[in-house]
Amino acid sequence: MPDCIFCQIIDKKIPAKIVFEDKTILAFYDIKPQAKQHILIIPKKHIEFADLEKEDADLPAAIFKTARLIAVKLKFAANGYRLVVNNGPWAGQAVNHIHWHLLGGNHLGPVA
Ligand code: AMP
Ligand code: ZN
Repeated sequence: MPDCIFCQIIDKKIPAKIVFEDKTILAFYDIKPQAKQHILIIPKKHIEFADLEKEDADLPAAIFKTARLIAVKLKFAANGYRLVVNNGPWAGQAVNHIHWHLLGGNHLGPVA
């Protein structure tokens, strides 16, 4: 998706501080962190929440596994962390390419 900012990060056209990458997933630091550790985990395929299909069924499990792996690698797993997806304007979603926010490294307030 040419005008998608996250697709441009995947294509390395826009720089990002990457913390994890494999065949299907990319994770990088959020440019405007909301916690001491704030990482975005995204599928390399441009998928939007409303377009998730049966064939994408493995994606959430892979994201959860990757989140745990990153939290362990970056040493903030022990005290806990949060994994959040925003969907649509009322949730404050700004980028349509589906993404999970991995937040940790400090005590987090209530979700909403
Ligand atoms: P959301 O509001 O759930 O759509 O989250 C989008 C997130 O993407 C926000 O937390 C932004 O700070 C983050 N973001 C936007 N552009 C970039 C970028 N170029 N590199 C890293 N994070 C970004
Ligand atoms: Zn995209």
